[in-house]
Amino acid sequence: MLIGAHVSPSGGPAMAVGRGEERGCRSIQIFNQNPRQWKARVYSDEEVAAYHEAMKGSNVEQLVIHAVYLLNCASEDPEIRDKSLASLIVALNAGAQLKAKGVVLHPGSALKNGGSVEEALKRAGQVIKEALAESEECPLLLEDTAGAGGTLGRSFEELATMIEVAGGGKRLGACLDSCHLFASGYDVRTRESLTAVVDEFDKVVGLDRLGALHVNDSMTGLGSNRDRHVNLGDGEIGREGMIAFLSEPRFEGLPVIFEGPGRSGKEIDPVDMAWAFDLRSRGLAERLAAA
Ligand SMILES: [Zn+2]
Ligand SMILES: [Zn+2]
Repeated sequence: MLIGAHVSPSGGPAMAVGRGEERGCRSIQIFNQNPRQWKARVYSDEEVAAYHEAMKGSNVEQLVIHAVYLLNCASEDPEIRDKSLASLIVALNAGAQLKAKGVVLHPGSALKNGGSVEEALKRAGQVIKEALAESEECPLLLEDTAGAGGTLGRSFEELATMIEVAGGGKRLGACLDSCHLFASGYDVRTRESLTAVVDEFDKVVGLDRLGALHVNDSMTGLGSNRDRHVNLGDGEIGREGMIAFLSEPRFEGLPVIFEGPGRSGKEIDPVDMAWAFDLRSRGLAERLAAA
């Protein structure tokens, strides 16, 4: 399990590797462009070379790119869908240049005015299919969502439907977020309940499609459909759930990204990463004792 953090890519992707290193990360996640603007950020050859140089001999083993939240591949507005497609292609190309584990995407939102979820899933799947056709190599990981306000991906069935509509190819995968799972009604508070959730994911989507994870605790309750991250163990999932998540055997080898807020409330610090590693150690010890 490659536990890591969401870090700033300010100054270029090589700088992000340095920020991960300082924090003790085994993996990092970055936005590939300013999250508040549509403007594309294309990496120069020099930046790509500096990034690969920084990764060499670094404890950071994997990079995940998070597409920015402006994207809505399911929008009813064709202009927004076009912009989302263009942005997604840029992100996937950046992922290929940086040999990222994948581009994580919030699949989109169904409604303005109570629009059909089924139609929205089809629209999102079509845009994703096109983005894959117009880019190479880098996997696209659809993230499960908390289910707020018509966001797609609140259930494993919705993820599976979009993967199917998008062609079902090998580059299509999923990223599961512990907070979003819990908020959308998947109980991940204990080892037993987490096991059942991962079984269910395997049945509906397939574990071979799981490419990355987000580990965040949830401020709000099971099925609350709200996306409010809190520090690991401080929320409704709680310490037991976080320990289970960070030691789940079927997550081994994958990047597991903590997105914050972090104890300081400003950014993720080394102390936050140390805490995540500590929870993982406890989980491994508990599983060993129970075996
Ligand atoms: Zn996300
Ligand atoms: Zn979230």
